[in-house]
Amino acid sequence: MYKEVIAHIRTLFGTGDEFVPLHAPYFGGNEKKYVLDTIDSTFVSSVGAYVNRFEEMMAEITGAKYAVATTSGTTALHLALIVGGVQPGEEVISQPLTFVATANAIAHAGAIPVFVDVDRDTMGMSPVALKAFLAEHVTMQDGMAINKHSGRRIAACVPMHTFGFPLRIDEVQEICAQYNIMLIEDAAESLGSTYKGKHTGTFGQVGIFSFNGNKTVTCGGGGAIVTDDETIAKHARHLSTTAKVAHPWEFVHDEVGYNYRMPNINAALACAQLEQLPAILDNKRMLADAYNEFFRERNISFVKGIEESSPNHWLNTIILDSIEARDAFLQETNTQKVMTRPIWQLMNKLPMYAASMCGSLSNAEWLEARAVNIPSSYRPGTNNIAITSKTSDLVPQQLP
Ligand SMILES: *Cc1c(COP(=O)(O)O)cnc(C)c1O
Repeated sequence: MYKEVIAHIRTLFGTGDEFVPLHAPYFGGNEKKYVLDTIDSTFVSSVGAYVNRFEEMMAEITGAKYAVATTSGTTALHLALIVGGVQPGEEVISQPLTFVATANAIAHAGAIPVFVDVDRDTMGMSPVALKAFLAEHVTMQDGMAINKHSGRRIAACVPMHTFGFPLRIDEVQEICAQYNIMLIEDAAESLGSTYKGKHTGTFGQVGIFSFNGNKTVTCGGGGAIVTDDETIAKHARHLSTTAKVAHPWEFVHDEVGYNYRMPNINAALACAQLEQLPAILDNKRMLADAYNEFFRERNISFVKGIEESSPNHWLNTIILDSIEARDAFLQETNTQKVMTRPIWQLMNKLPMYAASMCGSLSNAEWLEARAVNIPSSYRPGTNNIAITSKTSDLVPQQLP
């Protein structure tokens, strides 16, 4: 039934009958050079020039004033919640349709996730659903949003830009401001995605990114926090380095800290990857265009994102007509070694979050039954924009 789709995917990736992965990393620049540099200098760990360079590059790419490098997207989100003032026992609003790391980071902070619905076209948090939830369940006390049922403060809101498609983040931002709720964007999947000309992750007080192996660009494992708030940036960096107070030799730590700082060897890989980001995004946009044309002619719904959004096309997504069609598609493609995946099971259906308070989740449920990711890797040899390796301006670190 989906023979033609499978054949087309194979044509796009130039494969015979080999396995087509969902998303493979691509290392076409200075990766080896920079990684070897960290080994030669012995600075492979959490201090090193590449970590600082990575932070500068992330600030430049996103337009945020500050970036803080972390060991993963999950640890970035955990830190963001802490520096955002989320206290154990408080509530954090998120969306049920997300990767489990979003809800886990909320739980790591000791907070309780609450889920509101997504929009069908963005697959990200719906401002309409958020507004309705707050209007129904929240009362303002001393300038704080209090959940009338639990009596707990709603300390933060964590929307997520699903598969790199920007959600209506400006509307979410406005609602959060109205209720004095901290906005922390889970932009783990949306590096390179902009909405109304502004990079995702920079609408909230804090945004986070992931550099895990399956993301648009990777450094093995890593993450970043971005913010315009200097106090937040400094506090996040301090907490990520065991809250150690600067001193030439003494071990002084002034609060419970974390070992969340990105190692230099990973940052080296990250810098090399970020240098290629424009070329990678261009390549992925061309793949999305090719998919769009193919699926349009066959009346299969292909997700394009909303007006005024410029997605990074991390994972291409189709919406099938029913759960039966979805399962048939997953079965046929994976049997034929063309890797496809359903969207995540909703967070409120997982045992650890099953007791969570939820708004109506009809759109999330609708998408859960229909959305499928199709192969989305970088395709070598199909670029408009040439990969240009910047000459590294890094000064080799002096040995102590
Ligand atoms: C990948 C991802 C994360 C976590 O990133 P890691 O680097 O894997 O810890 C968080 N949220 C979302 C939505 C993600 O897709």
